[in-house]
Amino acid sequence: MFQQTNIAVSPSNFSEQAAELLRLADVRTTPARVTVLATLLMQPRALSHLELHETLAYLDRVTLYRALDCLTEAGLAHKISSDDRSFRYSASANTPLIKDSSEASSQHVSTPHQHGHFKCNRCARVFCLEQNLYSSALQQQLQASMQLTTHRDFKIQEIDLTIKGWCADCVTAPNEN
Ligand SMILES: [Zn+2]
Ligand SMILES: [Zn+2]
Repeated sequence: MFQQTNIAVSPSNFSEQAAELLRLADVRTTPARVTVLATLLMQPRALSHLELHETLAYLDRVTLYRALDCLTEAGLAHKISSDDRSFRYSASANTPLIKDSSEASSQHVSTPHQHGHFKCNRCARVFCLEQNLYSSALQQQLQASMQLTTHRDFKIQEIDLTIKGWCADCVTAPNEN
């Protein structure tokens, strides 16, 4: 199932970034929230409950789940459902670049989850895709395609896109089976 990964203990700059994001989102800072968000920020891919639980074994399950719910509600992380029935969490596409603490960055924090994902069919890892890469052009293509198919004006509200394939690590990995 999951590839065994070594997730490093959160370096302090990720904790600082996490604390800053919580502050910008107007969410009360707790050690659990900071730790969970810092762990998500460190990863370029989404982490499942199990992986988070294994990485943060000192947090009890309820505390971990509450922290995840809080981060998700605040728009600092998002929950990704998958056809393997396990939820994964990511903060990558939610992350505003903290250049300054102006209003622009706090608006970015509340940007809704609107981006695609890549799921590796081999190692089951899930990655968030940069949202600006497929925003308007793809939306127009899909709108046109729906128009062609239905001959009626359907309006797109949200695109739930998952691309499946093999990730770079799996493409280059030798065959195990
Ligand atoms: Zn893979
Ligand atoms: Zn995502």
